[in-house]
Amino acid sequence: MYVLKLENINTHMNQYEELVKLFLNPADFKVITDEDDDQTYENVRTFKFDGDKNRIKREIYQYLSEVTGEKPKWGILTGIRPVKLAGEMYDAMGDRTSVKQHLAEEYLISDEKAELILDMYEYQQKHLGKPPAGSAGIYIGIPFCPTRCLYCSFTSNQVKPEKYEGYLEALFREITFVGEGMKRDGITVESVYIGGGTPTSLNADQLDRLLTHVRNSFDLSASREFTVEAGRPDTFTYEKLEVLKKHGVERISINPQTMHDRTLVTIGRDHTVQQTREAFEMASKCGIPVVNADLIAGLPDESADDFIESLNEVLKHGPENITLHTLAVKRSSRLKELDENFHYKQPRLTEEMLTRAKEILTAEGYRPYYLYRQKHTAGSTENIGYCKNDTLSLYNVRIMEEAQSIIALGAGGITKVYYPDENRLERVPNVSNYEIYIERIEEMLERKSKDLFQEVTLC
Ligand code: SF4
Repeated sequence: MYVLKLENINTHMNQYEELVKLFLNPADFKVITDEDDDQTYENVRTFKFDGDKNRIKREIYQYLSEVTGEKPKWGILTGIRPVKLAGEMYDAMGDRTSVKQHLAEEYLISDEKAELILDMYEYQQKHLGKPPAGSAGIYIGIPFCPTRCLYCSFTSNQVKPEKYEGYLEALFREITFVGEGMKRDGITVESVYIGGGTPTSLNADQLDRLLTHVRNSFDLSASREFTVEAGRPDTFTYEKLEVLKKHGVERISINPQTMHDRTLVTIGRDHTVQQTREAFEMASKCGIPVVNADLIAGLPDESADDFIESLNEVLKHGPENITLHTLAVKRSSRLKELDENFHYKQPRLTEEMLTRAKEILTAEGYRPYYLYRQKHTAGSTENIGYCKNDTLSLYNVRIMEEAQSIIALGAGGITKVYYPDENRLERVPNVSNYEIYIERIEEMLERKSKDLFQEVTLC
């Protein structure tokens, strides 16, 4: 057992524990403070806080590096948005070399990761630039899925389709309200993203009504991107894809997660690999311009070869975007109930999966365009979105930049209002239970009226 005593500090201890977890399993260490009696422990290593958080973190990192032989590539950085950090430094310092040096000295970030995030930032800037002043992204949540995945922590309900109508009624009310408010306050729409859950859980008629209502309610003349996360292949029909196409949706996600039937059973997805193949074929036949495919590294009982087989299978369908996630053990997931330490068991394995995948994707003409890190992943690896032919997803990049308001509608939606003068976001959440959302829709509108719009009279 390693015992680390942090002197002169007893708040926000979580960030130090997260750092230690990059090196050690939770069962193998304890972080204590001045308030603890260190006489009860053997071999206590003490670190003194002098007001500089990064300094004490570097000392902890260097000590743990010596005793474990590990050198985590993200250094002392435990935040989820390293590209945002690098971008802010880039804007302040003005040149790549200075940023790289600062990332290495201040955060102990490896050369490899520094190059990755700086390349990404330059690529994003070249193709997307900064968000226009007064613009926002729109997120609309459809919180229904056919079954619940093992690792899911999203708002996802498994209910009969008849239940969808009441939800749509409330959602349409919120869409109308937000559309009017945005027009009145001069907030322009830069992108629309319909996610979930699984939006294609709705039938073709419901999707048609939803998209018609979106088009009628928002001024989309300045919008650069319209995405619907189709997600689950078992919700796909050609008719639904035609509805999306008719309404100008240019991007969909088909999320295989794995191309192995046995793993699909393990993770509780009620579809087959063959259905995933058919979904790709339908999307191609329908002529949806950009298809994203999500894969997850580190799924139960998968080897590195299994993961690479899945990737090669997906590549046969030539999706424009491929997003590689690392399995995370999230708070409200079934996986956490089953085995909350699952991710500590295979850090090397997921790293191997992602390294091999990167080589293959690079050879196939894909390049990484956005990245985020999550807590509780094996090896503390990152999730990376790859694209080919410069088909970066604007919405994904904006979410990570946190320099634009994202207005979220529907159950579980968390609006983030951006205040440029203070470079700060304010959260305005909707309730996540869809039945309570329906019941309390007026209150959701009031919250937006108060914290998002300048002055709105509810009608
Ligand atoms: S498809 Fe996504 S939202 Fe639906 S249950 Fe699976 S992880 Fe959750």
